[in-house]
Amino acid sequence: MIKNFTFQSPTKIIFGKGSIGALKREIPLDKKVMLLYGCSSLKSSGAYDAIKKALAERPEVFEFSGITSNPEYEYLLKCIELVKANKIDYLLAAGGGSVIDAAKFVALAALYEGEPWKIIESFGACTNKAIPLATVVTLPASGSEVNRDAVISRASKKAKLPLGNPAVYPQFAILDPELTFSLSSEQTANGILDTFVHVLEQYLTYPVNAKLQDRFAESILTTLIEDGPLAMKEPDNYEARSNLMLSSSMAMNGFLRAGVPMDWATHMISHEITSLFGIPHARALAVVIEPYLSHCKEKKFQKLLQYSRRVWNIYETDENKAVDASIKMTMDFFKSLGFKTKLSDYNLTDKDVEKITKQLVSHRMVKLGEHRDITPEVVASFLLP
Ligand code: ZN
Repeated sequence: MIKNFTFQSPTKIIFGKGSIGALKREIPLDKKVMLLYGCSSLKSSGAYDAIKKALAERPEVFEFSGITSNPEYEYLLKCIELVKANKIDYLLAAGGGSVIDAAKFVALAALYEGEPWKIIESFGACTNKAIPLATVVTLPASGSEVNRDAVISRASKKAKLPLGNPAVYPQFAILDPELTFSLSSEQTANGILDTFVHVLEQYLTYPVNAKLQDRFAESILTTLIEDGPLAMKEPDNYEARSNLMLSSSMAMNGFLRAGVPMDWATHMISHEITSLFGIPHARALAVVIEPYLSHCKEKKFQKLLQYSRRVWNIYETDENKAVDASIKMTMDFFKSLGFKTKLSDYNLTDKDVEKITKQLVSHRMVKLGEHRDITPEVVASFLLP
């Protein structure tokens, strides 16, 4: 049975070619805007100039750049200072999940009286005010543009932690597929795999007869399988880029998770791998997924079987073989996108697995998975090479 839920998806989506022009009307003219972005790729994609043009009527637009993947707490403190000093009252994040997540954290921290780290420690629960923000997506993957969640890292504590707060739903998200034409094949692959795993985290659990959520999840997965390789081969294929972009957003706007059990163990484990060893997010997911699904095969059996039939079109009558084949096809798909799928591919050993589980303990990630039975000991048992 579907559990009780509240579904809210307040972010306006503005989709299509040239949609950056909408910034002009969407951000009130009396707002003091700060544009947040990562690196020069915003300029090479053409997005930077288009944003500046759309905001040209304003006397001043502040900028904060240099936000890296796994946005760094200490670096963002500088941004918070600038926002406060200049009385910024609107943040525009242009980039992918890292820039958007950074903007969410800054939006909360700039109006928070205490030490900003408290916001992270409380997973975002210690405050309820934020500066309004909006996004221009240039790297579709996280879906952060349509939700209230963020992940912030702090290198000095080897921490990469999630936070959520309803005050940071972006007011609108601009999705122009043309802005993704200049992504490298590695960036494109990362977005495909991250989106794929976001769906699996909300879908591959146990059945509650949530037919719409299930079929919506399956439609995103099959879209990624069809159009992912196409976008890799033809980077300026507008239709493939459109479908990937919508897939990333729709995977994370809250509908897939409405009233259904969720997992997220793969993400929490991979966050530790990223913060300990510097392996990028999607690459870290790719080494956790196979040992994890194999470990959970029995508990996830019914959904894995449904996944094998509906997503991979496996009609093998032996159900056990069908499930095994679905896991293999998933890994073959990831490999075809250029991913390494084993910890040993990165020369990580049992000592490193120990570090991962220690970090899970220190971050209170000790009961993961939809049954809350994935303890650090269990993680060690399936991750060991
Ligand atoms: Zn992710």
